[in-house]
Amino acid sequence: MKDKLNAILLEINPKGNIGYKDNFLTRGYETTAGSNVLKGYISHYSATVVDLFEKNGFVTKAKFNCDAWAHGSSGENSDFGAVKNPWNNAYTPGGSSSGSSAAVASNYTKYATGTDTGGSIRLPAAFTNSSAIKPTYGAISRYGIVAMASSTDCPSLIAQNVKDVEVLFKIVSREDKKDANTFSSKRSLRGGQFKPGSLKIGLPKEYFIEGLDREVSEAVRQARQVLTEDGYKIENVSLPHTKYGIAVYYLIMPVEVASNLARYDGVRYGQARSFFGEEAERRIILGTFTSSAGYSAKYYQKAAKVRTLIIQDFDQVFKKVDVLLTPVSPTPPFKLGEKANDPLKMYLSDVLTVNTSLAGLPSLALSCGFTKKNLPIGMQFVGPRWSEPVLFSVGKRYQELTDWHKRKPSI
Ligand code: GLN
Repeated sequence: MKDKLNAILLEINPKGNIGYKDNFLTRGYETTAGSNVLKGYISHYSATVVDLFEKNGFVTKAKFNCDAWAHGSSGENSDFGAVKNPWNNAYTPGGSSSGSSAAVASNYTKYATGTDTGGSIRLPAAFTNSSAIKPTYGAISRYGIVAMASSTDCPSLIAQNVKDVEVLFKIVSREDKKDANTFSSKRSLRGGQFKPGSLKIGLPKEYFIEGLDREVSEAVRQARQVLTEDGYKIENVSLPHTKYGIAVYYLIMPVEVASNLARYDGVRYGQARSFFGEEAERRIILGTFTSSAGYSAKYYQKAAKVRTLIIQDFDQVFKKVDVLLTPVSPTPPFKLGEKANDPLKMYLSDVLTVNTSLAGLPSLALSCGFTKKNLPIGMQFVGPRWSEPVLFSVGKRYQELTDWHKRKPSI
């Protein structure tokens, strides 16, 4: 491809085998997070994730384009132009880890990283026929990654199949003294105690909502059929507070964004604050307003309380089933330009991903079919904290039983 898709911001070594979303610091090389504010910024150290991959023999190939500061669902908020979907260049590859998904899907690289704060690795995986893990919050160190919303930021991994994603995960999922949230006594409690087929899978009815695209619901229904025939037990479950997820996320996230972006003062590094794009400005203003004295109790604190109810829904449901199966996006990939001027419409692309982010749960996204227009459709398995081994086992089994992940775009 080399860069027909506008996925690459910087090629470091053409012979390399892994690429990083451009919000991962890579020592000696530019990191922009997709924003003009950081254009020309060269870091003096690498993210823990980058160090761990290097220690394990991986060679850095490139830095990938993304929505500025990882704000977005389509890649169109990048100050360096939108990334195109390799399956059809008129469509978005999903965001905000857009370059990572386009590069993996077009086989520029087999492995890439991304970040997922509200769906940013899962939507790109679903839109490009790739596989990706948004891990348990705290499973992978955030050190050296440009912060977006610290209470849901998860460094994430994307590849061409679940098996590869698992290999990447095993390398970078470890405690790191430089990120206190990676420490947990619960880490690794839920390891492969499930045999494939013995798992109970829940379908939360709130995720099969009115307005869900027919081709998406049909593809997930077929995946359910494949798993049932293989012996998995499937049952309907309910997560009653699901409908508040988008409102809660879009109240809590901007407060954290406003706080994290305050450090870009144009004095210590980067350009002046006037270089922030429209979407970052919108989030800074919203977050500052909803957390200000007089409004915090009405907005931020209320959202924090409802977040707890969302977490409790998941706690309850995981007493009944081992994992959940849901679509990733309510629609198949949408066209570039289709939602770019309507932030609310864009925010709704995240309606099926933000709740698991708010609850810090691991979620594995993979493809489960194609539309009539030959665009990929994705689903996700969601489990309790630290259940990645279970998610990988069911994801790998599904990919043994089906061939969707083997399809490649003609590029
Ligand atoms: N699309 C969501 C947002 O714009 C999620 C972004 C992300 O996960 N980084 O906030």
